[in-house]
Amino acid sequence: MNKTKTLVVGGGFGGIKVALELANSEHFDVTLLSDQPNFHYFPTLYHTATGGRQAESSIPLTSLFEGKKIKLVNGRVENIDRHKHRVTTTDGKHYDYDNVVLSLGSVPNYFGIKGIEEFAYAIGTPEKAKQFKNHLHEQLVSQHAPDLNYVIVGGGPTGIELSGSLTGYLKEIMEAHGIKHRAVHVDLIEAAPKLLPRMPKAMSRAVTRRLRRLGVKIYLGKVVQGETADTLMVDGNPIQSHTVVWTAGTTNNPFFKNNGFALNERGKVKVDDYMQAEPDIFVIGDNADTKFSGMAQTALYDGDFIAENLKRNAEGKLMRRYEPKEPIYVIPAGPHWAAVLWGKTQIYGLPGWALRTLADLKGFSDYQPWWKAGAQWMTGFEGEEECPECAKHGLSNIQI
Ligand SMILES: Cc1cc2nc3c(=O)[nH]c(=O)nc-3n(C[C@H](O)[C@H](O)[C@H](O)COP(=O)(O)OP(=O)(O)OC[C@H]3O[C@@H](n4cnc5c(N)ncnc54)[C@H](O)[C@@H]3O)c2cc1C
Repeated sequence: MNKTKTLVVGGGFGGIKVALELANSEHFDVTLLSDQPNFHYFPTLYHTATGGRQAESSIPLTSLFEGKKIKLVNGRVENIDRHKHRVTTTDGKHYDYDNVVLSLGSVPNYFGIKGIEEFAYAIGTPEKAKQFKNHLHEQLVSQHAPDLNYVIVGGGPTGIELSGSLTGYLKEIMEAHGIKHRAVHVDLIEAAPKLLPRMPKAMSRAVTRRLRRLGVKIYLGKVVQGETADTLMVDGNPIQSHTVVWTAGTTNNPFFKNNGFALNERGKVKVDDYMQAEPDIFVIGDNADTKFSGMAQTALYDGDFIAENLKRNAEGKLMRRYEPKEPIYVIPAGPHWAAVLWGKTQIYGLPGWALRTLADLKGFSDYQPWWKAGAQWMTGFEGEEECPECAKHGLSNIQI
């Protein structure tokens, strides 16, 4: 049988799902091309950054594809030649396709603010999360020079998750090393008048109360203007800090602009009812201009949708039209507490946290057999510290 040569670009939530689903079908010859050897499970990165394990947020693609008929290739795609049905990577290699699915994810957006890219920390990958964690230890333990202000910019889900667990983590490091509790502050800065600007008011209020109870200072309606090695300028006022974490925005992967795709006003790729951007080119997940783009659940849903449609097409059946599916929003804020928005229902506190831990188990098992997913999930209840004192203290086993 003549198999359809399907190239999936991007080893993240959307790309992996398409590849796994198509690998079950005899109609496809599947290649997954990604610039990373690992799948980054973003929802737990805040925990990895504050004492959790690297393994919780990073799974080797080879493990996910073990025993599957998927050719895995490492490379960074730079160009697409529509005419030749071919993509080219930065190292000059070519990959031909009959159809291609692009799921390249987002990149950080610094809005051109001076100094942020150079000086601010980020937690957008497990490596960056580790860098941030190492910085905290270096400052507190090696240099004995805690910052007076630990500043997180961005009052969206990532900023909330991180500030909620950072207060506790800083205290734990100090306790483990017998450092007297200094008056360290975790500041959360948001340009909009409320946290979670796109969520219902009641949810913003509940999260704000919760973070304040954990000791986070919240600054609303404040705009960051620039950063140097030791100062963040906010609305004309300097905040002294060597620890600023930028969580305030993402934008579409520049590949699409560079390759002349039709984009909406937010830079996302316009797709038709079948998630096709151009003939034989499908664009999904964060990259696509769909109603709930920007969420892992959406990317996973898109991956399933594309795989099913490609299979239907191969079997001579009519393809389905894309119907956006509203995700469930689950935002942890400190130990054993999360805010959940599920349709019109809002849930807070311990039940929200329980839902969140179950959501992660479900998230892991969307890509792995139950026994691997279970083992991965258990890593969320463990800490990981290079520093022997902190390891002995059993840091962060309870933070998720
Ligand atoms: C810190 C953080 C926390 C988050 N928490 C949540 C959450 O709790 N719940 C939720 O629903 N969503 C969450 N999200 C959003 C979610 O992670 C994204 O919506 C999701 O990852 C999108 O999936 P994707 O397949 O479009 O892209 P990704 O999962 O980002 O995958 C893109 C892949 O493509 C690769 N790639 C990029 N460019 C190239 C190239 N040129 N060539 C080859 N490969 C390339 C990347 O390395 C990556 O492997 C979070 C995001 C962040 C940053």
